[in-house]
Amino acid sequence: MDKGEEIEKINREINQCKRCPLYQSKINYVPGEGDPSSEIMFIGEAPGREEDKQGRPFVGNAGKYLTETIEKILEIKREDIFITNVLKCRPPNNRDPKEEEIEACSIWLIRQIETIKPRIIVTLGRHSSKFIFSYFGLEFTNIMNERGKIRKVRKWDKDVYIIPTLHPAAVLYHQNWRELFEKDFNTIRSVIEGKYKNKRTSILDYFNEDKESN
Ligand code: SF4
Repeated sequence: MDKGEEIEKINREINQCKRCPLYQSKINYVPGEGDPSSEIMFIGEAPGREEDKQGRPFVGNAGKYLTETIEKILEIKREDIFITNVLKCRPPNNRDPKEEEIEACSIWLIRQIETIKPRIIVTLGRHSSKFIFSYFGLEFTNIMNERGKIRKVRKWDKDVYIIPTLHPAAVLYHQNWRELFEKDFNTIRSVIEGKYKNKRTSILDYFNEDKESN
């Protein structure tokens, strides 16, 4: 089964999920969309009202801003990226996801990640950043401290870069965060273009880099 078929299969399973009570209040499941063979995955928190109506991620005002920023700074099309959320159903009134909902729903996100095997994972906001950090064995402090910092992990026999940034809805709310958000996208761009020089993330990296420079 290729990646596209596997993602379709996961979507079909998500569309029947009753693992937490959110399926009762949602209009549509929002499994995610984009190119399953993409090297880049964007992960948000949960669908909002417009996403719930349309069954698609990031299609409201925050989604439009995200799409514009992807196209303006990364200069790639949104459809060339795979975009999803930690939760696949909208929490009522856009409240924060509960821990037990994240735990119940995370099996879907993990299957999507393990199918796509992206080289770059961009986490949008604290909930998705915290979840992804934990999944990859990284310690998470808070989003303002972690945003814009590149974390490199070894997974699927390759280097995988995790880059947290702010949630676009929060950026629209705090207009003075736009600059930070766009700065983070320039960081993402440097990784996409291979211009980012590996930062030393562990003592082992010191030895490896010393060997490489010899
Ligand atoms: S939020 Fe996730 S776990 Fe809960 S019902 Fe929807 S798809 Fe299933």
